[in-house]
Amino acid sequence: MKINTAYYLLPVILQNATFSIYGYYMRRKRYNSTHRKVSEILRNNEYISLEEHAKYQLELLKKMLVHCKKHVPYYQKLFLRIGFNPESVERLEDLNKIPVLEKKDVLENPEEFIARNLKKSDMILEETSGTSGSPLKVYWHKDFYSWIYALYEVRMRGSAGVSNNDKRANLTGKVLVPASQKKPPFWRYNIAEKQLYMSSYHLNDHNIPYYVKALQKFKPKFIIGYPASISPIAKYLIKSEDEIPSIIAIISCSEYLSDETRSIIEKGFRCKVYNHYGSVEWVAAINECEKGNLHVTPEFGIVEILDNKDNPVPNGQVGEMVCTGLLNYAMPFVRYRTGDQGAYPENDNGCGCGRTLPIFKSLEGRKMSYLTLPDGRLVGSAALSTAFHVENIIESQLIQDSIDSVKIKLVVTDKFKDNDREYLLSELNKRIFPLKINCEYVDCIDNGSNAKKQWIINRTADYTD
Ligand SMILES: [Zn+2]
Repeated sequence: MKINTAYYLLPVILQNATFSIYGYYMRRKRYNSTHRKVSEILRNNEYISLEEHAKYQLELLKKMLVHCKKHVPYYQKLFLRIGFNPESVERLEDLNKIPVLEKKDVLENPEEFIARNLKKSDMILEETSGTSGSPLKVYWHKDFYSWIYALYEVRMRGSAGVSNNDKRANLTGKVLVPASQKKPPFWRYNIAEKQLYMSSYHLNDHNIPYYVKALQKFKPKFIIGYPASISPIAKYLIKSEDEIPSIIAIISCSEYLSDETRSIIEKGFRCKVYNHYGSVEWVAAINECEKGNLHVTPEFGIVEILDNKDNPVPNGQVGEMVCTGLLNYAMPFVRYRTGDQGAYPENDNGCGCGRTLPIFKSLEGRKMSYLTLPDGRLVGSAALSTAFHVENIIESQLIQDSIDSVKIKLVVTDKFKDNDREYLLSELNKRIFPLKINCEYVDCIDNGSNAKKQWIINRTADYTD
């Protein structure tokens, strides 16, 4: 949702009305007959055998690879070059014959990944930068869009015992409240979705009690959001011994959820946290169930766990997640290096919840990190990454050495122009004003001593994770 400048000039009541009208429009688009049909498939598939899941996955994989060969230029050339014939695929392991796809390969030639047999008018353009500030535009086919919202309802909310008919609060990345706003409300209402959309950019000691009062008044059944945005509220709840009894579940998304953060959120909100893994590329979807196990959604993607030489690691060991999307025919990603790490369990002995969806042992990630604003506001990486949906940036890093400024290292293509820089600065200003921003262009981002690059380095930080 790109927010028009005119929105910010409206009084709050009209901003709420605008957000709600947008909500009604999106609801009609999302919850149609295709959505109902594919939701039913996802619901029924939760209890089929592991063998049936594997068989279904193989059918989807073969269909996707044949489509790639016929209609997607990048794969047409690749398959020809390596002599790969999708029609001959007999086992999921045959995927190993295809080299791993890097994000930079897609960034260099995004058009090559778009299917030529489908109309662009039937596609939905989405942007992502993950939590690493490398922006990528992804096209979803309109039918796949229905699958995504079915997944949210059946596998994500469904596993947490809530639904899209329940009242909810969001703490994700939309900038619905200007960063310069000093007084509540730091949230807007979307009546269509029964949603209280709270800002991830106003969380400091002074403002958090207002967030809590708003939640107590609105009485959401669940919260969905970034752990970096939810945990400061949880810490306040622990300290103040206040509570929000209506909330029965917290769904954590888009950022690594450490055991420590999970336990803070569960203690503060006095309910269970459900972890969710997905991305705009949608090569994999993983959701936590009420028994605390992570389940892969096999219909969405094949998740391989590989070592640093791209060989499979044994079950039980952590490795890099390389995934193949099975449903988005508009822009397929085959053996895509996600940059995330995880592990399958040594043995999948099933889950007490009764779902037969394959179990995933763990999702690994980087420690949570924030920028600190002069008035104590903390803004986490997933929220900040939404400012980086800018053309021609290859990589970025944020370094904060003082409380009133941040240095942004940028690796850009030669197409990166002044107006791209201006756009990035204006998007960042919406989120972290009045922090001063200094851009520095570099050839590459130094990993330092860490194998895994930290996107935000905050040397002023006095918070604890
Ligand atoms: Zn389960």
